Amino acid sequence: MQSTPFTYINFDTLIIVHSAEVSIFFRKNAAAVARKAGEPLVIEEVIVAAPKAHEVRIRIICTSLCHSDITFWKLKDPPGYFPRILGHESIGVVESIGEDVDEVTEGDIVIPSFMADCGACADCKSKKSNQCSNFPFKVSPWMHREETSRFTDLKGETLYHFLYVSSFSEYTVVDVAHLVKVDPAVPPNRACLLSCGVSTGVGAAWRTANVEARSTVAIFGLGAIGLAVAEGARICGASRIIGVDVNPDKFERGKKFGVTDFVDSASCGDKSLSEVIKEMTGGGADYCFECVGLASLCHVSLAFVKGWGKTVVLGLDKPGTQLSFSSFEVLLSGKTITGSLFGGLKPKHDIPILVKRYMDKSSQQWLAGDLGRQSKRETPTPEGNRELFDNETLAE
Ligand SMILES: [Zn+2]
Ligand SMILES: [Zn+2]
Repeated sequence: MQSTPFTYINFDTLIIVHSAEVSIFFRKNAAAVARKAGEPLVIEEVIVAAPKAHEVRIRIICTSLCHSDITFWKLKDPPGYFPRILGHESIGVVESIGEDVDEVTEGDIVIPSFMADCGACADCKSKKSNQCSNFPFKVSPWMHREETSRFTDLKGETLYHFLYVSSFSEYTVVDVAHLVKVDPAVPPNRACLLSCGVSTGVGAAWRTANVEARSTVAIFGLGAIGLAVAEGARICGASRIIGVDVNPDKFERGKKFGVTDFVDSASCGDKSLSEVIKEMTGGGADYCFECVGLASLCHVSLAFVKGWGKTVVLGLDKPGTQLSFSSFEVLLSGKTITGSLFGGLKPKHDIPILVKRYMDKSSQQWLAGDLGRQSKRETPTPEGNRELFDNETLAE
């Protein structure tokens, strides 16, 4: 597309591009472009091509910053690619659709997801997986179906995509397999968080760990993901939620999300962290979540849980980092350690459930971030709360 001879006719932001072979509507809009690793983003005009088959062009209403944007912004080598339009946690409105798109139409409110959900492959049809095999997760610089970009700058240089979303742009093109239609009444500045962080954390407790009512949960790292895990565990009816962090100030914030106990991992004295947790819990937690992204903490987290407990790894260490367990350790332990991509959620099925939870006003703190517990409208027992969540799952 870069080599096509262009003539621009500007109608507000809409421009028509003429060439000998093609006449297509393109959009010229502002985007924050990451030109080089670690350098400030540059706000500039870019050209967003029309959506091809199975693709949708959306106007971004709201986008937030996820830590993965920062991680990939700093990466000099692949999968770091530049110039690139980062951003993947967002909500938008459908502006135009390509051929073979019947799931959404102009004006629909949609949440993009970096996880594809084609609905047709064996994995999408299975309740056990959220990893679409037709469009498996990759940190690709391109669109998913056809490895090309829909972005160019005004000099005709290709701009790379990020996580199939690239939401740091007024307009972006997203494959329909990566879009979830949602209730248009949901506040966009809250709902965009369901595009990645909040869904990942809540889903890890709800879907991946399947936290049981009245269980004990330990969470390593009380950042955005850790707080969302706490909220998910609270909704599932966990009776004790222990937050572990090096910053004691996070306990106060954590309380709003259901954290009941706090361990300052930098002040355990002569005892190891796992000894402290085991003493607090009478032998270990039922579930542990590693939300920091350090391989060493995965080992410690596994030591936290009871003999039959489950450790869920949500943090990502540096590329190439290994986890190692002795054969003896594995054989003699009934523990489970598992990863959790997007909290194990199936985007098209589960994001609308989380939106409904929010719209029902029964659980808003994980999106609002500043509200106290709103348990009045919740079923009063942990089992009932868990059941309420499950019923919503089945209610579709
Ligand atoms: Zn993210
Ligand atoms: Zn699929």
